[in-house]
Amino acid sequence: MNAPQTLSDAISCLSDYDPNALPVSQVREIVGRVIVPVEAIERVAIRSGLGRVLAQDLASPIDVPSSDNSAMDGYAVRAADLVSDRPTTLKLVGTALAGQPFAGAVGPGEAVRVTTGAVMPTGLDTVVIQEVATVDGDRLAVPGGQQRGQHRRLRGEDLARGKPALRAGKLLAPADLGLLASLGFAEVAVRRRLRVAFFSTGDELRSVGEALGPGEVYDSNRYTMYGMLTRLGVDVIDMGVIRDDPDALERAVRTAAESADAIVSSGGVSVGEADFTRQVMARLGDIAFWTIAMRPGRPMAFGRIGRTSYFGLPGNPVAVMITFYFFAREALLRQMGAEPSPLPFVRARSLSAFRKRPGRTEYQRARLDRDADGTMSVSSFGSQGSGVLRSMSEANCIVVLHHDQGAVAVGDPVDCIAFDGLV
Ligand code: AMP
Ligand code: MG
Repeated sequence: MNAPQTLSDAISCLSDYDPNALPVSQVREIVGRVIVPVEAIERVAIRSGLGRVLAQDLASPIDVPSSDNSAMDGYAVRAADLVSDRPTTLKLVGTALAGQPFAGAVGPGEAVRVTTGAVMPTGLDTVVIQEVATVDGDRLAVPGGQQRGQHRRLRGEDLARGKPALRAGKLLAPADLGLLASLGFAEVAVRRRLRVAFFSTGDELRSVGEALGPGEVYDSNRYTMYGMLTRLGVDVIDMGVIRDDPDALERAVRTAAESADAIVSSGGVSVGEADFTRQVMARLGDIAFWTIAMRPGRPMAFGRIGRTSYFGLPGNPVAVMITFYFFAREALLRQMGAEPSPLPFVRARSLSAFRKRPGRTEYQRARLDRDADGTMSVSSFGSQGSGVLRSMSEANCIVVLHHDQGAVAVGDPVDCIAFDGLV
């Protein structure tokens, strides 16, 4: 990752900066350069590490598994005792269970009954599965055709002692909790949680529970912002609805900057409203106002107030979500100390045609489905109006029409980003 820079340094690195037609890739670049990750680290019980950012590289303190063991229920034998193409009869001398190794010595021509996970008795190197073997008293008949070393898990095969197990910056997922436990760690060092203050702006907004007057709308953005921020795993500070008034905005931003690592706001950045926001922000910090070459969600503000990052998202309910997912999300992950992996694209056949000119990125709400033949296809919703939150709720993916991409015909492949993963 590049060292953090001031906003003007980050901007001056771009040869062709135009705040009124800023390509999505340049927004990402600037935002990535300016963000400063939180440094504080805390040790938590591994369960509490779920969704947190690992603060340091972890090497395995042990071999996993700690000894050679059986991968199947069956009989541990010495491959050298077997005749390759004919049955062999061996003598059974004992049993090893998972957690109860066979203690004795095993001589030539002898075998030990083993269950899955049992430590391989000393000298035995191969497991014959119980389904193919025949037992009569202490006589074990093994058919020909067994492979040396089969069904045996080797010591350190999952992870050898001293080998890197997890890298700093990883967002800990369920598998990681299991991995940490398998290495014997009871606690894990994670970055402290990010505190994110958020508010909506607009004189027309009413909060749920209030009656709507003429021309008023319920403030939905604070709820989508709450949901998106909570999913990201940050501590949220809800600052309510701020009126379109310079003093109210200034008070809100000052208060937020004192207590939060980041501020996310909606509204107040469109052409008609940006002027007073611009004046307030210019007094408080280092903020740039952009018209981004994208749809929906073109106007946006970004910057820093002291150490607090600021994301001024558009007011439009769909635009606020799209700009959050495609800019704020990655930036906040970086600020959390995470090394975000790029969002995974799914390539799908488009069942819709898209009119599109190169020169801006478009994000279309759509449904991704699996066809009978197993291929993925995607169809756009007719209504892409950026106020139509319902279509965002019904969609299960976003089709990304890239900056340089032109029109899409029915049947063409397109890149989609699915909303939900497995975990
Ligand atoms: P703005 O970016 O403030 O000009 O708002 C653009 C459009 O989004 C207007 O129609 C607003 O009424 C609407 N809008 C702004 N903020 C919100 C909000 N928090 N909840 C619902 N709609 C909003
Ligand atoms: Mg507004």
